[in-house]
Amino acid sequence: MTLMFKKILIANRGEIACRVAATARRMAIQTVAVYSDADAEAKHVGFCDESVHIGGSAPKDSYLRWEKIIEAAKATGAEAIHPGYGFLSENEDFARACTEAGLVFIGPPASAIKAMGLKAESKRLMEKAGVPLVPGYHGADQNPVMLKHEADRIGYPVLIKASAGGGGKGMRAVEKSGDFAAALASCKREAINSFGNDTVLVEKYAQRPRHIEIQVFGDMHGNYVYLFERDCSVQRRHQKVLEEAPAPGLSPEMRQQMGLAAVAAARAVNYVGAGTVEFIVEQRADGSMNFFFMEMNTRLQVEHPVTEAITGLDLVEWQLRVASGQPLPLAQEQLKINGHAIEARICAENPDNNFLPTTGTLQVYDKPVCTAFERGMVRIDDGVRQGDTISPFYDSMVAKLIVHGQTREEALARLDEALAQTRIVGLATNVQFLRYVVRSPSFAQADLDTALIPREEAVLFKQEPVGLPMAAASAIAQTLLSEKAAEGRDPFSRRDGWQTHGVTQRPFEFEFRGEPAKAALTYGHDGALQLTVGDVSGLLVFARGAQGIDIQFAGQRLTAAVYTQGEVDHVFTARGATQITAIDLLAHAGESHAEGGRLTAPMPGKILSFSVKAGDKVSKGQPLAVMEAMKMEHTIAAPADGVVEELMYAPGDQVTEGSELLKIAV
Ligand code: ADP
Ligand code: ADP
Ligand code: MG
Repeated sequence: MTLMFKKILIANRGEIACRVAATARRMAIQTVAVYSDADAEAKHVGFCDESVHIGGSAPKDSYLRWEKIIEAAKATGAEAIHPGYGFLSENEDFARACTEAGLVFIGPPASAIKAMGLKAESKRLMEKAGVPLVPGYHGADQNPVMLKHEADRIGYPVLIKASAGGGGKGMRAVEKSGDFAAALASCKREAINSFGNDTVLVEKYAQRPRHIEIQVFGDMHGNYVYLFERDCSVQRRHQKVLEEAPAPGLSPEMRQQMGLAAVAAARAVNYVGAGTVEFIVEQRADGSMNFFFMEMNTRLQVEHPVTEAITGLDLVEWQLRVASGQPLPLAQEQLKINGHAIEARICAENPDNNFLPTTGTLQVYDKPVCTAFERGMVRIDDGVRQGDTISPFYDSMVAKLIVHGQTREEALARLDEALAQTRIVGLATNVQFLRYVVRSPSFAQADLDTALIPREEAVLFKQEPVGLPMAAASAIAQTLLSEKAAEGRDPFSRRDGWQTHGVTQRPFEFEFRGEPAKAALTYGHDGALQLTVGDVSGLLVFARGAQGIDIQFAGQRLTAAVYTQGEVDHVFTARGATQITAIDLLAHAGESHAEGGRLTAPMPGKILSFSVKAGDKVSKGQPLAVMEAMKMEHTIAAPADGVVEELMYAPGDQVTEGSELLKIAV
């Protein structure tokens, strides 16, 4: 029996560092974190038993400095290094350096990383191993004329890929022969800039392609298994957005064929540990499916939790066992698929702005509440806490949300609900977008291919889940409830000053989706609230409930959790989330309500003081009066230079909305 490690160093950050540390802790293995300047306070640092600072915020100054990381492992007495994904995980020099320093690299041998490192070379190797390849050219000759000739022979559309590419970069789809030369030049430019290597390969662009990958595992004793597949077809910019297991519609025969092909690929390079063999699956018009090898990722994958969910296994535990020399815990025939799992990558990005990454502070970061029944069916892997910052130094993934159900339908419903309960304020994220994808006809019906997002464009982008009337009703209900809380008693009975004419109006102004909007609330004799938002009118009824404010207005009903940040109300509902900005009418009273020398009260309230008297000369912006409304004082300023003609009220007077307070001759 081989001894398990006592201490490991985790050469990564964020969610994957926390993920690895969680399993290590469960296995009574000590953990050492490394961190950059930007991560001094990061979650993964506190999550590990020890931590070592390794340099500046940019990855090249810290997480990619492998001499420094090896030094940290030696200094802390760690026996092995887990590289996570990204950073040094697929760096053969690092893997070799670990071994040379007497440390175990928790991953495959350097030779296997090298063999699978370049797409073109790995394809030549796979061809020999009998793994099916997409028809294409992956030779060493890079003469542009020859490459174009090959593309013409393959037939369009073709895909030009940087051999050293990754993360969706360095790829160009070409529709027709005439476009080839320009696409090749631009692909090579991107490849040299991003990967320092401009070798490309050309392959057939598969029809209605699906990305289906196989999780494989090998040990040091020559055993191999496949832990089934993950469908990662839902992509933007060739990058994964949603991943699920098993792949909908995959027959048991094809699953087995793909599994065996993946094991053959791993065996061909003497693979050890966790790896993923990615296939492109072509869906022909006649319904047939063909799979072709794309590449092998020689590390743990971001989306490994969906495999864990359907197999009930801990893949990090398997990695640690295998790296310490133990045999694979289970044989192929002992592995079974249970239910269906989906992962959603929650990213700091703006889907409506071409998925541009965003940065900022997680002012609110609420995660789904799981009932006891759901424990194990909703999982969140993250490396951040409320108050943490998403900085520009690292990738934009905030968290992974993984759900498990007995069926795909059950998993889908659970995912939608969990996304609705994921509330992030402080920066733009794709949470709402993910909900649209989950509910889109294509995804709901498992009509999957890599063009799903562009195909469903009409229901995915620039949507408004909560219209202006309910957004305004939510903001107003929130305002009234917080006023009531501030006063400690019913605001409606208290504001007798408003009731002089029996009914009183209170105006609101908002900005919603870049447009100004007006609303007015009328207080009836009976305490009933009549609300008008634009051309929608009706009774407004609301009460604070367990999940937020339960609101009824103009035939609609919803529960809104409202988070106020300055003037912006972030409204979260089961339908989706939106934002509405309240414009403080009193703050702008001077400018907006002065017409022809008249200054009117923008809302009901009490005059506290006048700072001028009749006959005084005033200049623009000078304070004239102070009003109290909503438990706040508001100063009313002169809209222009002029002379005060008359004060219409005295301090202490109650005024209704629209009352003329003083006259100014301009
Ligand atoms: P996967 O199929 O596992 O998602 P990707 O190619 O998308 O593979 O990359 C895996 C992850 O590695 C990315 O999501 C990203 O978070 C991380 N990553 C890769 N390179 C870097 C890097 N240089 N800096 C930070 N994170 C990185
Ligand atoms: P990366 O290293 O960036 O992950 P891959 O070779 O794995 O690059 O391809 C990334 C994505 O590009 C795939 O998931 C798929 O969406 C698309 N793709 C790759 N090869 C093909 C192909 N031959 N036909 C159609 N789409 C492809
Ligand atoms: Mg890939």
